[in-house]
Amino acid sequence: MASMKRWRLTADHDACLGTGICTAIAPNHFQVIDGRSVPSTEETLPDETVRDAVESCPMEALRILDAGNGEVLAPL
Ligand code: SF4
Repeated sequence: MASMKRWRLTADHDACLGTGICTAIAPNHFQVIDGRSVPSTEETLPDETVRDAVESCPMEALRILDAGNGEVLAPL
């Protein structure tokens, strides 16, 4: 069985300003807790909504990494 690629989500607490843009775009994957975005799950299946959220962060506080090899997939 071929292994399905998975994404690892990270949020930089020092960079995040708590704007809530990411949570508005991808409410199933990010939540703002105490003014900082936190991924709801550490890993997720590839999802273009999540990519949109990560690319929309004005602080570039979010990252999508390839869960297998750590390659940065977004933002690009
Ligand atoms: S869009 Fe960026 S700055 Fe705004 S809450 Fe999300 S991670 Fe924080």
